[in-house]
Amino acid sequence: HFDVSKPWLNRVLERSEKLSLKAVDGVSFSIRRGETVALVGESGCGKSTVARLVVGLYGLTRGSLVFDGEDISDLANRTGRQAASLRKRFQMIFQDPYASLNPLWRVGTIIGEPLRFFRPEMSSADRRRRVGELLEQVGMSPMDALRYPHEFSGGQRQRISIARALSNEPEFMICDEPTSALDVSVQAQILNLMRDLQDEYGLTYLFISHDMAVVKHMSDRIAVMYLGRIAEIAPSDQLFANPHHPYSKMLLAAVPSLEGGGKERTTIQGEVPNPVHPPSGCAFHPRCPHANARCKAEVPLLIARDDGSEVACHGVEEGRIE
Ligand code: SF4
Ligand code: MG
Repeated sequence: HFDVSKPWLNRVLERSEKLSLKAVDGVSFSIRRGETVALVGESGCGKSTVARLVVGLYGLTRGSLVFDGEDISDLANRTGRQAASLRKRFQMIFQDPYASLNPLWRVGTIIGEPLRFFRPEMSSADRRRRVGELLEQVGMSPMDALRYPHEFSGGQRQRISIARALSNEPEFMICDEPTSALDVSVQAQILNLMRDLQDEYGLTYLFISHDMAVVKHMSDRIAVMYLGRIAEIAPSDQLFANPHHPYSKMLLAAVPSLEGGGKERTTIQGEVPNPVHPPSGCAFHPRCPHANARCKAEVPLLIARDDGSEVACHGVEEGRIE
């Protein structure tokens, strides 16, 4: 069980190179073991910030992070053996596998590297055997261990990074746009692989994507983020059948059909404002057709509804919007 919550307003400050600040605020959710929760939203909404916060790459300035009953809010500052054994239980998969695979290393060295670090007692013969098994688990050949990342396609490189992530038998995988750089047909193969691995190992996923069509088939629940806050969180079927938040409705209206090859994408109206200086009140109000004076003044908080969703919208709360 994993819980990012209490108090309501977590503020995470992400320092970019130019020291501008990006905030994630009021993000509160939990993930059950074996579940897939997706965080969706346009770029700059803070999805990746939440992912990096969860794995301890960024520190929390407020709020808390609980993993399997243990408060790990200070994970970013922890060092030593105990912190390493905790980190081993999380793995992160990134959008661009090529950037995270050392081009000078053979695939076998790349996949075996976490084993060398976390299990130094393992003999090199055992490690080689384990790397071979991992390659087979991701649909590749043990012989591929001898080759280099550039010899593989984008989809195969993502399989290699998944194999590396699996090497230490993690429980929780944070996947940041894992298929966005891939062709649609390859995307489906990687998503299917991830689902099979989840069933086999009981993995828990936090799945980050800007693409509703991708998360639809991957997630048990979906959290829609807008400018650093959760606008709506709901079971996937519920969100697709009956989204409440005007932003969720807008995102869903823009979902291209996978069958149509993604060509019928309708564009979402309006620009995403600068996340460093979000609009007052409900940050979505400049783009929302239902905005009123209260929306401009008051930040809406997530409110649970009877259908299992939680929605942060004054219009929904007041019954002006279904
Ligand atoms: Fe629109 Fe107001 Fe709801 Fe924000 S709170 S989404 S502006 S109706
Ligand atoms: Mg991102």
